[in-house]
Amino acid sequence: MIVAIDGPAGAGKSTVARRLAERLGFRYLDTGAMYRALTWLALQRGLPTGDGPPLGELALANPVTFDREGRVWIAGVDVTASIRQTRIDQQVPVVARHPAVREVMRDRQRQLGAEGDVVIEGRDIGTVVAPDAEVKVYLNADSSIRARRRQAERPGIGGDALATDLRLRDQSDAARMRPAADAEQIDTTTLEVDDVVARIERLVRERQPA
Ligand code: C5P
Repeated sequence: MIVAIDGPAGAGKSTVARRLAERLGFRYLDTGAMYRALTWLALQRGLPTGDGPPLGELALANPVTFDREGRVWIAGVDVTASIRQTRIDQQVPVVARHPAVREVMRDRQRQLGAEGDVVIEGRDIGTVVAPDAEVKVYLNADSSIRARRRQAERPGIGGDALATDLRLRDQSDAARMRPAADAEQIDTTTLEVDDVVARIERLVRERQPA
């Protein structure tokens, strides 16, 4: 079974998707980490982020992998920590918007998602990567709350700068952020993580064969 969790930055996707996968005994696939890893490699190699085809080739030649501990690897380097830096936050939507990049990433995401039960989080999972997913959820939250949550993860950055980054990223990601028509939409503004997880878990149980 595939459980697709989509939504904007700070909506709670990662925390919810990880905890849900743990509870269900499903694998967990973070597609944002894949775009982040590619962005890290592009910057490392000095490739211009505005030019799509070479980035698509870079992605094809350097598949992102996850090890058993969930660490993220690209080109033989463990980039788990480096991909959470502000410079990556800012550049990743620029890299992710190229069709040549998305094509390679989506193929790879389908490959990684193909084996058994999995929770996949991203922006376009329910709409494009896995339109047949048995369970689709779209998480959202008020922008001030999303900025506050992001701030907890990036304590070194001022609140205003973070809110601006988030707004710019939302604008750039907007084309890929539409909820699937058949997605369950959950506003997490005032909800606890465990309540969101429990709600999605119920959806999964309803759709699991007896
Ligand atoms: O989820 P996360 O914030 O780590 O995603 C980082 C960026 O990767 C997003 O802002 C978006 O630009 C891109 N992304 C995407 N499609 C996905 C997942 C992430 O374009 N499925």
